[in-house]
Amino acid sequence: MRLGLDPSRASGHCCAAVNKHFPLPDDKGRSQDAPSVSFVSLGCPKALVDSERIITRLRAEGYALSREHAGADIVVVNTCGFLDSAKAESLAAIGDAIKENGRVIVTGCMGAEPDAIRAAHPSVLAVTGPQQYEQVVSAVHEAVPPKHDPFLDLVPEQGIKLTPRHYAYLKISEGCNNRCTFCIIPRLRGDLVSRPAADVLREAERLVAAGVKELLVISQDTSAYGIDVKFADSRWRDREVRAKFFDLSKELGSLGAWVRLHYVYPYPHVDEVIPLMAEGKVLPYLDIPFQHGSPTVLKRMKRPAAQEKTMARVARWREICPDLTIRSTFIVGFPGETDAEFEELLAFLEEAQLDRVGCFKYEPVRGAPANDLGNAVPQHVMDERYKRFMEAQQKISAKRLKRKVGRREKVIVDAVESGAIRGRTRGDAPEIDGVVHLSARRPVKVGEIVTALIDRADAYDLHGQVVGF
Ligand code: SF4
Repeated sequence: MRLGLDPSRASGHCCAAVNKHFPLPDDKGRSQDAPSVSFVSLGCPKALVDSERIITRLRAEGYALSREHAGADIVVVNTCGFLDSAKAESLAAIGDAIKENGRVIVTGCMGAEPDAIRAAHPSVLAVTGPQQYEQVVSAVHEAVPPKHDPFLDLVPEQGIKLTPRHYAYLKISEGCNNRCTFCIIPRLRGDLVSRPAADVLREAERLVAAGVKELLVISQDTSAYGIDVKFADSRWRDREVRAKFFDLSKELGSLGAWVRLHYVYPYPHVDEVIPLMAEGKVLPYLDIPFQHGSPTVLKRMKRPAAQEKTMARVARWREICPDLTIRSTFIVGFPGETDAEFEELLAFLEEAQLDRVGCFKYEPVRGAPANDLGNAVPQHVMDERYKRFMEAQQKISAKRLKRKVGRREKVIVDAVESGAIRGRTRGDAPEIDGVVHLSARRPVKVGEIVTALIDRADAYDLHGQVVGF
């Protein structure tokens, strides 16, 4: 039995691991003697964007991409180091690459702990940390020098995307100024560094020109965008654009693609973006990792915006934009979580009536300050609370989804396989939310945005027919 939202679809907090192996783009037509790289991308969408940058650079230099480790000249493993379970998976992926190929370079979050990697796998050729693009590319050069081929070294202007062609992640900043006690990301990735708005917008423009229909805006804390650069202006097209959450959202919304905002905290300035959602400029969707509903637990977690009047804010957002979908993630069993605090969490869920929710049992990440809080919640209590949480949320999610039955919804088509069509409404992010199963009288294409009449809802997904193309 599945409880609540499918945990396999649930993203964790703003830096939770997705740990998904993404298929590499097809490299047919590459020169036979081009050096080849097999690439494993583990971790969250932010790590995926790092992988895309590294691959784009390598591909631009003439490296071919291999879908298999065996036979490739080198394997690069982009690791996730967030949770201990993600680290174990990263070490296993490195082990597989060594077994199947032998020549392995490690990069990504776990690269911040080179000793742990070398202790488990002494034969790795090089270890580089997160965002060390230059270093990882240099390590590849050293292991397998590039071959120059002026006819084959061209890459598409938008770079190489690991996501399907019709959606792409857009990373607007690196690092984080918050210090949540369960998280070591700021230690691994440093403080907030925002990209200039013009830089982000130019990348978004290139993506849209290359056929991307949906831009997924990501960072560790999207609503904090630009704080580090004092919201500096940069020139895009004929105007100056401030590096500010609202300004960037508005300009992205002018590009003609769906714009989905992930990892937003309920700060007061987020209010400004809700009218853009109501006007259809950006998707009426907010991914807000609340993590808990008890003020005392949030305080111990040192969560950003914990002191804000969240519930009143959410109610106001829904008044302005009734179609708003709110997705969130929570942790149960945080150190010291009492029965009363857990009940507060359930009451928060009931009151907030969130559309999409993922839940995680607390896992002590090595080096996280929360481990020193003591009062660990026993595993059986954590299991029980998780079950109760998921049961409560399942009912809420099902009720929220049912509201869509009988409505016409825009749906972006993600897959067409043996006649089965799968897509997502404006309220569903790829990989983490539900899907819409569609039937259609005429063929539809992946990436097409159709109008569907929703005729049925189950606990997670919708079903409907295509009524407009
Ligand atoms: S410190 Fe908090 S806000 Fe920052 S990355 Fe970690 S969990 Fe996210």
